[in-house]
Amino acid sequence: MSVLAKANARKLLDKYCIEKPDQLNLVKIANAEFLDVRIEKLEHCFGRISYKNDFGAITISTTIKDKGQENFVLAHEMGHFFNERNKNQSVNCEGKSLVQNSGKEFDANVFAAELIMYEPWFQNFIKAKKLSSRLLSDIAEYFNTSLSSAAMRYAELGNTPTAIILTTNGIVKYSMINKYFPYHFIRNGMKVNNNSYTSDFYKGNEIPRTAEEIPIEAWFLEDFNYKKDQFVMEQNIPMPSYNSCLTILWEK
Ligand SMILES: [Zn+2]
Repeated sequence: MSVLAKANARKLLDKYCIEKPDQLNLVKIANAEFLDVRIEKLEHCFGRISYKNDFGAITISTTIKDKGQENFVLAHEMGHFFNERNKNQSVNCEGKSLVQNSGKEFDANVFAAELIMYEPWFQNFIKAKKLSSRLLSDIAEYFNTSLSSAAMRYAELGNTPTAIILTTNGIVKYSMINKYFPYHFIRNGMKVNNNSYTSDFYKGNEIPRTAEEIPIEAWFLEDFNYKKDQFVMEQNIPMPSYNSCLTILWEK
C-alpha cells in the first residue's frame, strides 16, 4: 500500500529529527537501524537486501556510477525493510523494479521518493520554477537522487502539465501522466513513434541531452483529444543497460 509506504518514510524522518534534505544521511540511518550497507559486484540486479529478525544487509551494485542513483537505490532497499518488516527475506531488485506501477517494488519506490524528496521539501524547491531539463538535474542534485526519480517525483507533484513514459526495446511499458496534461491515453505495448527522439535512441543514434520540441503525434496519436499542430517538449533519460528509456514530456 503506497499510503503506508509514504507514512513509513515520514515516520523515519521524524524519528531521526530530519528537517532538511542536507541532514539526511541514509547510510547513517540504515546503520542505526542495524542494516549494513555495502557496495559490491552484483549479478543481474542493482540492489539487494537480506534481513532476519531486525538485522540485515543492503548491497548496492558497483555498476551504478551515479551518486544520486546510488542514494535512491539505498532508499529503495530500505523501503523493502520498513514496508515489509513482518517477514524475514532476501530481495533482489532489477532495473525494472524502479519503474513498476504496483506491488512491493512500487511501494519501495514510493518510500524512497518520500524519504529523499519529502513532499514539503519538494514543493518548496520547485515553487515558482519553470520545468526544464535544467530544473530536473537541479532537483536530482539538490536531493542527491537519480534523474529518473526526480522526473517521476515532478510528474507526481509538479504543476507543469507533464507526462512520463517508460519504454523498453522500443515498446511503451508504462506511463504516468499528471492531471494538468491535456492528453491522457498512451497504450502500453505501443511502438515508439519515429517522430520522437526516443526512437533515435532505439536506432542507436545520438539523442539530445536537453529537451527538444516534438509534435504531439509522436506520443498521443491514439488519444481521443489529439489535434494536429500541437507541440510539447521531450526529454529522454536513456538507460542503455536495460535497453530502456524514460521520456519526459511537458507543455511549453
Ligand atoms: Zn526492490
